[in-house]
Amino acid sequence: MRFSEEDIRPRIVQEKFLNLAREDIARFFHNPVMITIKCYACNQDLNFSFIKHGFQYSDCKECGSIFVNPRPTIKYFNDYYKNSESSRFWASSLFKITKENRTKLIWIPRVIKLKNILNNFNLNFENIIDIGAGYGLFLDIAATEFNSNLIAIEPAPHLARIILNSGHKVIEKFIEEININELPSTGKLFVSFEMFEHLHDPSYFLEKIYSLMNEGDCFFFTTLSSFGIDIQLLWENSESLSPPHHLNFFNPKSIEKLILKNGFKIKKIETPGVLDIDILSNNISKIKDPYWRIFISSLNKKSADDFQEIIVNSKMSSHMMVLIEK
Ligand SMILES: [Zn+2]
Repeated sequence: MRFSEEDIRPRIVQEKFLNLAREDIARFFHNPVMITIKCYACNQDLNFSFIKHGFQYSDCKECGSIFVNPRPTIKYFNDYYKNSESSRFWASSLFKITKENRTKLIWIPRVIKLKNILNNFNLNFENIIDIGAGYGLFLDIAATEFNSNLIAIEPAPHLARIILNSGHKVIEKFIEEININELPSTGKLFVSFEMFEHLHDPSYFLEKIYSLMNEGDCFFFTTLSSFGIDIQLLWENSESLSPPHHLNFFNPKSIEKLILKNGFKIKKIETPGVLDIDILSNNISKIKDPYWRIFISSLNKKSADDFQEIIVNSKMSSHMMVLIEK
């Protein structure tokens, strides 16, 4: 379904959120202890890309992934997500205002898409486990579309309570703290949505999920792709490159490398985004290349839709979707 950025990120609320996040950076990331990482996919040293709001982004010349590097150690992020004004604002305003639209425009189509993909692979899981379930919107819709046993993994107590009140099972822990015995032993599908780009150590995260799986179990996740046309054309002006939230931008090529390195089999990698051109149209003056400024501003409704389709078919949207199996 086509929709616009405004439907899920109203400009005025989004700007307030980004301003608060900038103020929080000064408070929560003042002279932090830093670690230098290598590319999680290629194990190569990373090259300086740019500095944004005090965070350095670096990219891998071999695979084109982008990472916050060096990055503050994990304790600063945990404190930020738990106690910052911008996190509170996201939960109390941005999320509430857009909940209805997000359900209709994102979660319902997403659950139906997942159902179709599983049908195409002839996959059926007794259990679906949502890692970082947030407000439980996925589980609410999944309850109407799947016969599976639904479980949320959500460490934040106030979110866990909301999910519980919606009638779902919740394990109130970080995935890192969970033991395989706490999960059902029969067929499991793990899912996680827009979380991978936030992870402090995405490789360790995959390793952990692998350890909680039996052979034939799957993991389905969505994240941002560094090959996304909006990200490439806007570069440091892209709001997706927003510290301290988004730390990792793999792409269809590099995520494949990372997945195989961690022992998984790949079922599907695609970029079914709908917003790339809309994001570019809303930010024409920030596009770095003059030719692309002209190109994007010359698109009409029909050619914009056609071009978005080409982007998706070429796996060059910034919204990436991955299904892998143990
Ligand atoms: Zn790389």
